Amino acid sequence: MANKPVLAANWKLNPTTAGEAAALVQGIVEAARNQDRVTVAIFPPFLWILGVLELLEGTGIELGAQDCFWEPSGPYTGEVSAAMLAGVCQWVIVGHSERRAMGETDEVVARKAGAALAAKLSTIVCVGENQEQHDAGQAAQVVTAQVGASLAQASADDSERLVLAYEPVWAIGTGKNADPEHAYKQMRLIRDAATKLIGPKAGQNVRVVYGGSVNAANVEQYVELPQCDGCLVGGASLKADEFSTMIRSTAGVYSAAVQ
Ligand code: PEP
Repeated sequence: MANKPVLAANWKLNPTTAGEAAALVQGIVEAARNQDRVTVAIFPPFLWILGVLELLEGTGIELGAQDCFWEPSGPYTGEVSAAMLAGVCQWVIVGHSERRAMGETDEVVARKAGAALAAKLSTIVCVGENQEQHDAGQAAQVVTAQVGASLAQASADDSERLVLAYEPVWAIGTGKNADPEHAYKQMRLIRDAATKLIGPKAGQNVRVVYGGSVNAANVEQYVELPQCDGCLVGGASLKADEFSTMIRSTAGVYSAAVQ
């Protein structure tokens, strides 16, 4: 059976306390539980992962980390490995633009993605052009190159666990969500680039999602797009009521699509 679409909540460096993290989880449990069309996955900061794990028991909500390191263990102060995460959660994000902006290269992203996929984690690999590249009409070539370089260690066997997120940098946290038509074109390119690397059948299995200022008012515009397998949500995932609305409307769109 094909993988379900995914609504992924990237909490970034939030919230500040374990109590707030618990309240946020409790606020979305009901919406997530009352549907079976969408995989809801939350990505708390590392420090809250084990506490959140306990709260998620029996809810159907999946859990992930916002980053990982490629070596399984050893002298790497401050790192958390994909191998460690695999014992605790199902998901990881690699190559988020906020990490790329702090110096993470395509080569590093490729190593992280390779380790995460080898550890059997469902892995969201983020790609997207910045404002300057967008304005210069380079969006297509930038994301195609990023997919090629970031998936250097991925293979057809990974396709069920691989999610590619189109996240234009200029849309992240800015309130300037991408025009759905632009997002659609970029998501098609991303799938085509993945297909070239891992083959046609595997390329169809890969999930491609959109991220960048998605909220309750605009989420349907993206999940309704052909071949859009969900959204990666930052800011709006920190508001339990709003994220619950997004879960309900996304599940509604996908359930209408299969009827
Ligand atoms: C993100 O963090 O991946 C993201 C898309 O953030 P936001 O929804 O706040 O733009």
